Amino acid sequence: MTTPPPITEPDPSALICPGDKIGPCAACQRKTHKYGSGGIPLCQWCMESAKTAWGATVRFVSTRP
Ligand SMILES: [Zn+2]
Repeated sequence: MTTPPPITEPDPSALICPGDKIGPCAACQRKTHKYGSGGIPLCQWCMESAKTAWGATVRFVSTRP
């Protein structure tokens, strides 16, 4: 896994998306690309650790019975 840069460094995705799509990461407050309003943005490093923590067992929550 790559080492995250300092929190003052924005997520690379924040640099390539429109300014109004930039919001603080929900975990570390780093500037990152947020996906629509009401979403919970995670920078790529928090996303990475979240995936690691969740493992492969957690996928999109389904409402199927
Ligand atoms: Zn983060």
